[in-house]
Amino acid sequence: MGYRCRKCTGQSVINMRQHRLALCGDHFIEWVQKHTAEFIRKHRMMDTEDRILVAVSGGKDSLSLWSILLDLGYQADGIYIDLGIDWDLAETGYSKRSLDYALAFAHSVSSRARFHVLDVKGVYGSSVKEIASRGPAGARRKFCSACGLIKRHELNRMARELGYTVLATGHNLDDEAAVLMGNAMNWEIDYMKRQALVLPSSDTGLIKKVKPLARFYEREMAAYAIVKGIPYIVDECPFSEGATSLGYKEILNSMEKNSSGTKLKFYFEFLKAKKKGLFPNHVPPELGQCEKCGEPTGATGLCAFCRLIERPGRSIDHITQA
Ligand code: SF4
Ligand SMILES: [Zn+2]
Ligand SMILES: [Zn+2]
Repeated sequence: MGYRCRKCTGQSVINMRQHRLALCGDHFIEWVQKHTAEFIRKHRMMDTEDRILVAVSGGKDSLSLWSILLDLGYQADGIYIDLGIDWDLAETGYSKRSLDYALAFAHSVSSRARFHVLDVKGVYGSSVKEIASRGPAGARRKFCSACGLIKRHELNRMARELGYTVLATGHNLDDEAAVLMGNAMNWEIDYMKRQALVLPSSDTGLIKKVKPLARFYEREMAAYAIVKGIPYIVDECPFSEGATSLGYKEILNSMEKNSSGTKLKFYFEFLKAKKKGLFPNHVPPELGQCEKCGEPTGATGLCAFCRLIERPGRSIDHITQA
């Protein structure tokens, strides 16, 4: 409390200890936008010719990302994947409430951007919950892995079919550092090899994927949304409760408290080490195309998504174009 903006000496809205920098609202917005633009350029994430699709969840990160990209002059549209998560105790389901926030923001930028909504149940006849709960008794872990698979598949498919050249997600530094910690704790080398700021496109149909906010702390993105006046869903998905990634976030936060900059160092030194050859013989897996949906896959025959959808009780013959 009581910090003054370093640029104008006005009252600060945030003090970023890791940068020894306190800023007022206007200068904080300017700082975030300037550093996002530099980060995008440095890592060759996109240029103004690209057609960008932002994966929007209704949360602070993805809505802020969409807003920043538009303010920086990029052609950025949004997409919301309606997962049909509607069994939490609140009056309206989590997915419905998230969609309302996404819709409200999309409406506020409708003169500059388009917004797509993909209703998983509408397209595939089952919600994510129903799809994930087939087979052996479902645990949260199983649900999240089905949910992640469906989101990855559908975002790539939609971006490809709608002619977008880049798919942007709102992962922040806390997300990335927690994933890295989880992978490192379990020596998940294959996941570590794939953890990157930019995943290139492929001839087999993978759309380029980028994370333009990965240098910002979660609290910075929350501050950005608040200062910029972007309403967002504060609640987490009911299935994230007890997730190990939240535990890693807590550990990293307590380390950060004792030594500011820990998260930045942990993640960016990892990326540097990768560049210097941490995984010397890394060859990206060869991909073919799924014989059912045409999406890129390392599997022969059906991709993991089509196999999941095709589990007993459901066929995908009725897929309609979203
Ligand atoms: S926490 Fe919720 S949104 Fe995230 S992967 Fe799990 S089910 Fe999906
Ligand atoms: Zn200022
Ligand atoms: Zn498939």
